[in-house]
Amino acid sequence: MSARRIALLAALVAGALATACQGAASVPEPEAPRATPLPTAYIGALAATPAASETLAAVDAAYEMTRTASMDIAEWPRTSTAPVAAVPRVPRVASASARMVDRGPATERRVALTFDAGADRGYAEQILDTLRDNDVRASFGMTGQWAEANPDLLRRMVAEGHHLINHTQTHDSFTGFSTGRAAKSSEARARELATTEQAVQRIAGATTKPYFRPPYGDIDTSVIEDVYAQGYDIVAMWTVDSQGWNGLSRSAIEARCLRMAVPGAVYVFHVGAVAQDGPALPGIIEGLRKQGYQMGTLDWLLHP
Ligand SMILES: [Zn+2]
Repeated sequence: MSARRIALLAALVAGALATACQGAASVPEPEAPRATPLPTAYIGALAATPAASETLAAVDAAYEMTRTASMDIAEWPRTSTAPVAAVPRVPRVASASARMVDRGPATERRVALTFDAGADRGYAEQILDTLRDNDVRASFGMTGQWAEANPDLLRRMVAEGHHLINHTQTHDSFTGFSTGRAAKSSEARARELATTEQAVQRIAGATTKPYFRPPYGDIDTSVIEDVYAQGYDIVAMWTVDSQGWNGLSRSAIEARCLRMAVPGAVYVFHVGAVAQDGPALPGIIEGLRKQGYQMGTLDWLLHP
């Protein structure tokens, strides 16, 4: 493999690492993924498999490896493909951690569709039209800033039976991993969650509890403890990232999402115009149905 090719690959992987979850309303979202320096080990691991190195699968693998390295949570990402039990609705206990969820039970052909709304209005309206026309409910990861900027769409989501996940007020990283800033304090994290929840309640009379989706997927042990303390029992991760935010075309997103379908999968998409997820959605719904999948919210997937 040539040096140029390795450099290209490193840039590609850095893009995958940069974030699966773009979106901040207060500052322009970096449309091109940031060139986060990668630990040499990951570049080395990819370079060792030149045949697969330029495929999305390799990027995914590197992304997962990098994520693992950034966390001290033993069970994430899941290494076993064993079926996952449904999440019981349990009484809260005094002190505990939230549960990280990246998929639902694999016992039935059911998947969850989740859309993060943290940047522009983008394709949100079109996505809601598609969901309505196909009689599909979905989960929306909502920032407080997006909710305040688009109250009509938030109300429509709630009126049409969709489910909300707290995606924080400003979409700043709780750990600082993806932003290169200091980790937020427990108090700052609590404010991010509360401000969003209050906006959603005020605008649409709905709640985001008990679901939290971390900006950029940045989590560590302190985050899952802090969010639990604020009423967020479930940290909503994902199984399949559409990579729409990473510039994939409509048809590439569609093919990828259908190829990676598995029972219990949680999909993550974005409403923002940078991603072609909205235009890809009709084909994804049609393709998943042809494969025998039912689609719904994350809450529906976890509580059959
Ligand atoms: Zn996001």
